Amino acid sequence: MIFRACLFALLLMGVQGALNSQPSLFGKKVSSLGAGIVQFYPGAAIFETLKIAAAASLVFVLFGAWVVCARKVCRRTSGMNRPTEAPPWERRSSLAIAALSYGLLVLAGAVEYPSLYESAIPRFAAAGIFQLSFMTSPVGLRLMAMALMLLPLVPRNRGRFQWPYAAGCAAIVAALSVIFLSELPAASPNHMARPGFRTGGVASPRKGPPHIIWIAVDSLRVDRLDGPNRVGFLPAMQSFRDGLDTVSFRRHHVGVPRTFPSWIEMIQGRYAAETGIRHMFPGFPARDHEFEGIVSLAQKSGYKTIAVSDFAGDIFPRFATGFDVIKAPSLSLGTLIRQNIDQMFPLYTPIVTSPLLRRFFTSLKASPAYSAPHHLELLAGDALDEAAAEEASKDKPLFLTLFYSTAHFPYSAPWPYYRAFSTPAYPGPFWFQKNPSLSADDQNLDDVQKNQVRALYDGALKSVDESFAGLMSMLRARGIWDDALVILTADHGEDLFEAGILQGHGDHLRGDQTLRVPLLIKLPSSAELPAVRRIDSVSRSIDLAPTMASLAGLKGFPVARHNLQGMDLSPLFNPSEAKSSTSALLDLSAYSETEIWFSRTGSVFYQKKRLDYPGISQLLTFDPGHSGEVILNPRYEKMLVVSKHRSLVSGNWKLIYMPTKDGVDYELYDVQSDPANEHDLAALKPDVLAAMKSKFMAGVRKIETHAKIMDDFIVPEGI
Ligand SMILES: [Zn+2]
Repeated sequence: MIFRACLFALLLMGVQGALNSQPSLFGKKVSSLGAGIVQFYPGAAIFETLKIAAAASLVFVLFGAWVVCARKVCRRTSGMNRPTEAPPWERRSSLAIAALSYGLLVLAGAVEYPSLYESAIPRFAAAGIFQLSFMTSPVGLRLMAMALMLLPLVPRNRGRFQWPYAAGCAAIVAALSVIFLSELPAASPNHMARPGFRTGGVASPRKGPPHIIWIAVDSLRVDRLDGPNRVGFLPAMQSFRDGLDTVSFRRHHVGVPRTFPSWIEMIQGRYAAETGIRHMFPGFPARDHEFEGIVSLAQKSGYKTIAVSDFAGDIFPRFATGFDVIKAPSLSLGTLIRQNIDQMFPLYTPIVTSPLLRRFFTSLKASPAYSAPHHLELLAGDALDEAAAEEASKDKPLFLTLFYSTAHFPYSAPWPYYRAFSTPAYPGPFWFQKNPSLSADDQNLDDVQKNQVRALYDGALKSVDESFAGLMSMLRARGIWDDALVILTADHGEDLFEAGILQGHGDHLRGDQTLRVPLLIKLPSSAELPAVRRIDSVSRSIDLAPTMASLAGLKGFPVARHNLQGMDLSPLFNPSEAKSSTSALLDLSAYSETEIWFSRTGSVFYQKKRLDYPGISQLLTFDPGHSGEVILNPRYEKMLVVSKHRSLVSGNWKLIYMPTKDGVDYELYDVQSDPANEHDLAALKPDVLAAMKSKFMAGVRKIETHAKIMDDFIVPEGI
């Protein structure tokens, strides 16, 4: 009866939640998408609620059975000989222990992944969890819960010990431990590579093409790896960079500082104007073809191609790029609804996220609130096991792409990373996460808040670095790492309240913080050591694919037809190349463009220097024909292209192009002396400005083959 009542209540809550909830993107509720939930996905909400009810029932039945056993054990051990009931205090104490233990499990869940609970708990509780996170660990709390449940087994007083019931108690505690503790963190292995050594080791080289391991860290700023004050900050990645077989590109630029278009650029070796993917929400017609590039080339060349990612990796299921296996979430209304339901019942969240049961709640993996780099190591391990078990894949070289999302805003890393660079005195409200504000609020943040946002970001990077070390160990143990070509890079960097700038990426092109990212390439152990290990000339993310193809010996990557298409960078460090062939590579120009502005308010400079179009709730809609995918309303496609800010870096100069309703505004910066782009030299250096403008327009003409240039405005055909 009680169980039925609970189930009914849960169902009601689920339906009500589905009707009331609006999907949120980047922390903002998108009202235009809300109507679609009722129309297309009532079943998803109800089914998800039933799943939670089933999982909760399993756990509560175990707790109920434990209470029964504990009472019997208590009755005998305390010397009571009445055959019927235990005395009331014992009944209450076993119930109290069960409640307390479950409470500790809830608390452990909240300390480990606090962002999952934050929207459902009051502010003082969030502050309390933050304080608690400095005093204890989730594992400690879980062990405490299990230890409490073993208390009845301690023999007391007189009487005969009831072995069957004691064994029952112990078995139930063991079962709960499997559910809640089966993923105890491994003792930290010594997996750091030592600087000055080959990170690839000395394993005997495999025959045939090398494995390719492509690791990307969302939003990784180059200064966190190479900055003067960051020695030892990311020990695993920095040791990897310093290996004798690793080449480090120190002026590496992305084309679009937003995830999806940047990935397509990297895969295809072409800028977004040529790939056709210029924002994160392309509709089906724009995606309905094969995106030929380095992945499909590897696939055709006999590689087993695998992509593993978490919430920001929803690009992989959306584009046919050539992956055989994709372990990454998809961004759809159904996913968003299931995710909302999963987070709606905080008392059950520890069950939903337990190591044993979380595999039945895959939608949560698409949630930034549940982002944890070590989940990717496990996923990668699963993918490799599956590939090894497949007869057809057994002897194939691997092309493994692993994309970490945790450092993407809201920087929601699990314990202990969210508080790793903070103090217990921090007053809130960004204890665990921080999305960029789409209103003007962020302009009023004080230094305490800005520093906390940076602390969250740095903590998230730390969590990725530890996972990178674990991944290296895992791949080495499987014999894959040493003879692999390994790439470490990022899809873009991140603004963290630099002068005159807010938080996020893709809104503007000032400063190195979003446009420049690390690029590290470790050669396979079968290759000669690189002649040069540090490249200081300009390189672009579009150069990565042709460089990978060349280093792995894959034939057939399209040759660049002009200098704003991807080039093979390997002559820059390959000892066998003649010096003369590198001169063009030493003089590359890097083009970039902004993506979508989700907001149209605020006094930050790019909101004034821009062409106006609607905010996020009108820009986005969903496509009911394709799983309710969130897409850009097609009527704004061309407006978006005209409005983009664009930039060109050439030598020491950077030109920024900003169309406004009063004409095009240009800025000019000396990137060597002014990497943050705070001193506009456009008025002071007219000759340089003219030369850069002419170089920029010549470049735009090469990549924008379906646009006209009218009074400096770049206008797509048919607008
Ligand atoms: Zn990204």
